[in-house]
Amino acid sequence: MPLKRAFIFLGPPGAGKGTQAKLVAQSCGLPHLSTGDMLRDAIRRGTDLGRTAKPIMERGDLVPDDLVLKMVEQRLAEPDAGRGVVFDGFPRTLAQAEQLDEILAEKGFGKPVVVDFSVGTEELVKRLSGRWTCSVGGEIYNIHLVPPKVAGICDRDGGKLVQRADDKPEVVRERLAAYDRQTKPLTEYYRRKAVLQIVDAAQSVEEVSRALRRIVNRAEMENGHL
Ligand code: AMP
Repeated sequence: MPLKRAFIFLGPPGAGKGTQAKLVAQSCGLPHLSTGDMLRDAIRRGTDLGRTAKPIMERGDLVPDDLVLKMVEQRLAEPDAGRGVVFDGFPRTLAQAEQLDEILAEKGFGKPVVVDFSVGTEELVKRLSGRWTCSVGGEIYNIHLVPPKVAGICDRDGGKLVQRADDKPEVVRERLAAYDRQTKPLTEYYRRKAVLQIVDAAQSVEEVSRALRRIVNRAEMENGHL
């Protein structure tokens, strides 16, 4: 049995992880596992997890590790994760990364491919404050950088575009601080394991996508998936 694949995308909010993770998931035929999307879904459905996570996410803090890890383990047990997954926004703390290593080993995954999306703070604030998402299909726009053809409407399916509650400026600052405090140390963690690759995420979506394609193809080839 070939080893399952795990792609991990690190980087601050607004670095473009979500957009790129979806593209990689599509091209590799793997599910896109975004812990942020899963938590927002739990809030919409009004589950216990959603009720706990809502106030934490609204102030830009991280949801406790044990809750996120339980949610991820449940998701990995679903049949579509049988050949691997593309993680997006996970792991976000050292405890999550250490626990994920154990989970991956237990479940027959190979060494993860970890990509760090590197981009400066000014650019991030511009991206996050302009970000609007389709309420139907989840398509991501930016009113400054990638505007829709008609304001407020998704080009693809005509859905209404909405701004995420946590993309307000004061919450954006808190999320960036949480990233510096809790998630940045992960780059060192994965560098020491010699699995870290870096992409200049200040480039356009197409350029980042091309750089990522090279990394993904190399990894897929090395692991016998191409
Ligand atoms: P994202 O959509 O990845 O920007 O995540 C939105 C919010 O969900 C974050 O600001 C956190 O409050 C929460 N969240 C998402 N992923 C995680 C995670 N791996 N650990 C803890 N909190 C998370």
